[in-house]
Amino acid sequence: MPNKKQKLKIFQTPRGTHDILPQDQKYWDRIRTVSQTLASYYGFERIDTPHLESTDLFLHTVGPTSDIVEKQMYSFKTRGGDALTLRPEGTAPIARSYIENGFLNLPQPVKLYYRGSFFRHESPQRGRYREFHQWGLELLGEESAIADAEIFQVCSLFLSELGLKDILFYVNSVGCRECRPKYRSALSGYYRSRVRGLCKDCKRRYKDNPLRLLDCKEEKCVTVKKSAPQILDHLCEACKNHFTVLLEFLDEIGVAYMLNPYLVRGLDYYSRTVFEIASTYVAASEPEVAREALPSINAENRNAGDEKKEEDEEENVVTEVPIKEEKAGKEPLALGGGGRYDYLVELLGGRPTPGVGMALGMERLAYAMKQQQVKIPASSRQKLFFVHLGELAKKKSFKIIEMLRRANIAIAESLGKDSIKSQLKLADRAASEYALILGQKEAIDGTVIIREMSSGTQETVLQEKLIEILKQKLRR
Ligand code: AMP
Repeated sequence: MPNKKQKLKIFQTPRGTHDILPQDQKYWDRIRTVSQTLASYYGFERIDTPHLESTDLFLHTVGPTSDIVEKQMYSFKTRGGDALTLRPEGTAPIARSYIENGFLNLPQPVKLYYRGSFFRHESPQRGRYREFHQWGLELLGEESAIADAEIFQVCSLFLSELGLKDILFYVNSVGCRECRPKYRSALSGYYRSRVRGLCKDCKRRYKDNPLRLLDCKEEKCVTVKKSAPQILDHLCEACKNHFTVLLEFLDEIGVAYMLNPYLVRGLDYYSRTVFEIASTYVAASEPEVAREALPSINAENRNAGDEKKEEDEEENVVTEVPIKEEKAGKEPLALGGGGRYDYLVELLGGRPTPGVGMALGMERLAYAMKQQQVKIPASSRQKLFFVHLGELAKKKSFKIIEMLRRANIAIAESLGKDSIKSQLKLADRAASEYALILGQKEAIDGTVIIREMSSGTQETVLQEKLIEILKQKLRR
């Protein structure tokens, strides 16, 4: 026992992590259900890879000059001396798995989906976490633009099925091994005489990876970028054709997109198509949403200034970095991104295999659903609420609940509460369609009352007929 003078340590979630609370689970469940149903319908199979991978896997693929590798990986040496990293993204591990498990021998393309936690040592802000969740699709073994279009299609269907409005895809092509080096030298040529006016990070990017100059959000760098050569003017015929075909598909399937000739995305393994998905929804007034679910805007497009914040951070500082309030809800909210990675498998020592994929941030999706006040279809559990009255009824409760479970009919209850008023209040709060009421008389008679919550009408039915009657009612 600590003595009274000793201050008890109050434990909190580690900085940049968060609990997903019961009241938010309905959004997460919906995201999981809709993504799973759609992905399976389109032939994507679930894959789960470990949270830990060899550090080299990411160094090799994501690229040494990417933000992820430069500053965001949780890497450590095990007692046995292995260099491991908590996965910061999902595509490289899937490419590793594709090779390791001989997926090449399966009929191509191999279509996979995943979801889970990812880890990046970022400056935590609302919507930018150190442990966050993504769900994603990967399609390996198909080079043609129809594969890219399928990823856009499933992603766009998912967002509309979720009930989200005002979704916009920003699209670009970053070319291939043939045309990208030529663009890179055109870009370097353009920046050569302007490098002095750039931020500290960009001065380094100019040397290490000029394409990443286009990622910077510093005002002075954005001004310089405005007249920079555009990659679309430098694509080879094959890349131009691939991109044109993709845009034709997007027009056909009715995906709302906008060309962004300066979109390169931070990771080295992308080739040809790259895209980002944003919600442009602006709420008339921001609804009350849980603090932990309120994301910062375009969190992954960090500024150079963040590095300073990062240095200032102490692990035990719990104050949040404030978001610029005037921007909240007014700038597009980055929901996800993706692209083609035709050299990734080869880079990892596999036979050259094209691929394309995308990942959506689940925290951002849950936030957007709240922000847009999306209605979530009632789960079957919410449709029925069990209410008991009196000691005998309480004793018989489990029998009725078990009867329902065996018939696969979900029901909520609050067996610890004895007052009918408070139980009916809970049924009401859970937006239940029906309350099943078991009182002393019903317990003796072998009956149960079905009360329609909206109208308050009630009928008494025999317990042995209950399942049959409920099935009819719930089907309606
Ligand atoms: P990326 O893997 O960087 O392309 O990110 C894809 C999506 O994952 C982003 O658009 C966000 O929705 C989400 N995301 C990325 N990083 C974070 C983070 N640190 N915290 C929360 N969500 C994130």
